[in-house]
Amino acid sequence: MSVSILSIGELLVEIMREKVDESLDKPGTFVGPFPSGAPAIFADAVAKLGESSGIIGTVGEDDFGRLIIERLKKDGVDTTYVRISKNFTTGVAFVAYFFDGSRKFIYHLPYAASGRISIEQLDEKYLSGVKYLHIMGSSLSINEDCRKVCQRAIEIVKKSGGKVSLDPNLRPELLSVEEIRKICQPVLAMSDVVMPSGEEACMLTGIEKTFSACEKLLEYGPEVVALKQGEKGSVVFTKKGKVEVPSFKVKEVDPTGAGDCFDAGFLVGLLRKWSLERVARFANAVGALSVTKKGPMEGAPSLQQVNDLLNSA
Ligand code: ATP
Ligand code: MG
Repeated sequence: MSVSILSIGELLVEIMREKVDESLDKPGTFVGPFPSGAPAIFADAVAKLGESSGIIGTVGEDDFGRLIIERLKKDGVDTTYVRISKNFTTGVAFVAYFFDGSRKFIYHLPYAASGRISIEQLDEKYLSGVKYLHIMGSSLSINEDCRKVCQRAIEIVKKSGGKVSLDPNLRPELLSVEEIRKICQPVLAMSDVVMPSGEEACMLTGIEKTFSACEKLLEYGPEVVALKQGEKGSVVFTKKGKVEVPSFKVKEVDPTGAGDCFDAGFLVGLLRKWSLERVARFANAVGALSVTKKGPMEGAPSLQQVNDLLNSA
C-alpha cells in the first residue's frame, strides 16, 4: 500500500511557555508536550483533510515518541515507516512567544531520534506510488543523513512520475542562511512546487523585494510558487503571472503550524486538479483555522471545518 502525499523528516514534541514574554533563559512555566515537527504537522493536516498521508521519520522508544505516533495514527496518517529507535530519545523543541509576535526556539534535534533517519527506511515500492513528496528545509537543516534520505526519496518519486514540493521552512537556529541556501538549492531544482514565506523567498534568492524573489524562484525549476503572507493570505506565481488570494478573518491564538497546514491544503487542492486560485483559497482556509488553537498540531482542521469556513465567506 502506498499514500498519495508523503512527507519526510522530524517528528518531535513541543514544550511551550505558558505565558507570552517568558524567555527561555530563566525559570518559568511550560505547557506540553504537544506532538509537532513541521513534516508531522503537515502529514497530520493532509490526513485530516481526507487525503491518504504518510510520514517517514524516527522517534525514540519513550512516551514522547508514543504520543506523536498515537496522534498521527488517530488522525489517519500512515506511520508504517516511522522508526522507533532504542538508542536515541524523541526530539524536543522548547518555544517562547513574545509580545511582538516573534518566537524563540531551543531544538534538541540533530542528536535526538529526529535526526536518525536512514536510507534503509526508504521502501522503493511505497515511494513509487506517491503523487506528492513534501520536503521541508527544517529537515534538510538537521544533518547530512537527513539530506541524503530526502535526496534519494526525491529521486525515486520523480523517477516514478510523482511530484516534489518544498517548504523552505528556514531554521536560522539550526544553520546559517548561506548554508541553508546551499542545502536547499538541489531540492529547489527538483521541485515542482515551492511554498515559502516572504522572508524565505528573499533569503533563498538574495533578492530584497518579495514578489521579485518569488519570480526568481520560478527560474530555479518549480512551476508553481505559493507565497505565504500570514494574515494577508497568499500569492501564487507561475510563468503565466500571479494571483493574489486574500485570507480569512480569524482570531489568532497560536501561529505555529500555519505554514505546514497551508502546505497540506495546497497539495490536497493540486491533487484535486482545481484552479490555482481555488487551491490557494482552500489552503488559506486551512492555514487560517490552524492558528485558532494553541499548540502546533492542535489547530489542523477537518475537511468539514474548512468547507464551513469557505461557505461562510
Ligand atoms: P510557519 O512556518 O511559522 O508555520 P509560515 O510563515 O510558513 O509560518 P504563514 O504565512 O504564517 O506561514 O501562514 C500560512 C498561511 O496561513 C497564510 O498564507 C494564511 O493563508 C494563513 N494564515 C496564517 N496566519 C493567519 C491569520 N492570522 N489569519 C488568517 N490567515 C492566516
Ligand atoms: Mg513556514
